[in-house]
Amino acid sequence: MNVVIIGCGIVGAAIAYELSQVKDLKVTVVDRQPSPSLPPTNGEEEGSNHLFPASTGAALGVLVGIMSPKVKGSAWQMRQTSIQRYETWIPELESLTGRIIPFNRQGILSLCLEQEDLVKWGELAKVRHSQGLPLEIWDTAQLKKVCPQVEHGKVIGAVYSPSDRQVDPTALTLALVDAARHYGVTFKFGVDVLGSELPPHEHGVGEQLCHQIETTAGTISADWFVVSAGLGSCFLTSQLKQMVDIRPVLGQALHVRLGYSLGNPDFQPVITGDDTYIVPVGYGDYWVGATLEFPSNGQEISPDKKLLESVRKAAIRFCPDLSKATTIRTWWGLRPRPEERPAPIIGKLPGFSNVLLATGHYRNGVLLAPATSDKIREMITAGVRSQEEAARWAALPT
Ligand SMILES: Cc1cc2nc3c(=O)[nH]c(=O)nc-3n(C[C@H](O)[C@H](O)[C@H](O)COP(=O)(O)OP(=O)(O)OC[C@H]3O[C@@H](n4cnc5c(N)ncnc54)[C@H](O)[C@@H]3O)c2cc1C
Repeated sequence: MNVVIIGCGIVGAAIAYELSQVKDLKVTVVDRQPSPSLPPTNGEEEGSNHLFPASTGAALGVLVGIMSPKVKGSAWQMRQTSIQRYETWIPELESLTGRIIPFNRQGILSLCLEQEDLVKWGELAKVRHSQGLPLEIWDTAQLKKVCPQVEHGKVIGAVYSPSDRQVDPTALTLALVDAARHYGVTFKFGVDVLGSELPPHEHGVGEQLCHQIETTAGTISADWFVVSAGLGSCFLTSQLKQMVDIRPVLGQALHVRLGYSLGNPDFQPVITGDDTYIVPVGYGDYWVGATLEFPSNGQEISPDKKLLESVRKAAIRFCPDLSKATTIRTWWGLRPRPEERPAPIIGKLPGFSNVLLATGHYRNGVLLAPATSDKIREMITAGVRSQEEAARWAALPT
């Protein structure tokens, strides 16, 4: 059984690794980029209606699981599954590939400002305790003792989630690709998927099969196609006459160098407040981000420098020492956000029995990559089982 995965950001790479463990599947991954998870190209590709820089290379890799307000349903299940899976993924991938994947196990600290509802946080902490998950509410005295770098006058307390994590998205994607390759997955980088030619008589008929895709390296046939092309999914699904509307939300971030650790060098959680993240990346370096910038008309959007500066200033208000830091690099990327439906989109492309969507992860693609790959594996293995069953029935004498 052949599976083709279109797009090798964090989501496609995770699916490739998960499917590489399934017996009798031959998996090929195609991506237009010359190598996985490149940092954003800052606009070189703009102007075209279907070319976008990958989102993964721009992500901060913050994994907000236990601290998320979701408490039930699939949104919570996916977060919980992913947070659990990360604990085994990282050592498994490091030992398989010999790569180091920076993974911060010191949790996430969310600073609460005056206008925030501490009662709501208290209720969430109770739910989490009933689920056997830790979530701590700190008063200002405890915050000052444990994180003296926080000096914002309007902070009234904090919520600490020791089990949430942060991972380097590029290092993780590269490790997933290596690990999948180790188990026999083929990767075709620098290959653009142009679309799919459906036989004319199949248009408009119930559920149909996609047999092949056209690429810049020729035609590729398969039994299953997984579309994990982020913003590129829009164009690909439109080629199959079932456009899934996914729009870009721009995010800018910066890498700053302080040269020493903020507060206690042995306790360096991700700190967040007012939707600004301060992410320790080692040796007194921090990532700070990210802006949320929506396109004003359709898909057109470019980074607004003033908004990046306001994120930098917000970080300095929380941790004034950051004013002494030097900016090493700034970047931006586009988050794939489904229009008028919740993120992410995982399931069959309507009208097709063998085209699966794993896209539109918006702000949480890195967090949700493990649970997404789980769901895709389940759908493909269930599909294979039902095809085998149908074939057995067909073979029975009537
Ligand atoms: C500034 C910023 C900060 C973020 N921070 C976080 C965070 O802290 N935590 C978190 O969980 N998420 C975060 N995100 C969101 C996260 O980056 C995305 O949700 C995630 O990267 C989406 O992954 P993806 O694999 O679906 O898409 P992408 O990474 O965009 O990958 C899609 C791939 O498909 C390929 N492709 C597209 N079309 C075609 C085609 N026609 N043919 C061949 N290949 C094609 C592209 O080249 C690309 O490599 C952040 C995003 C940004 C921009």
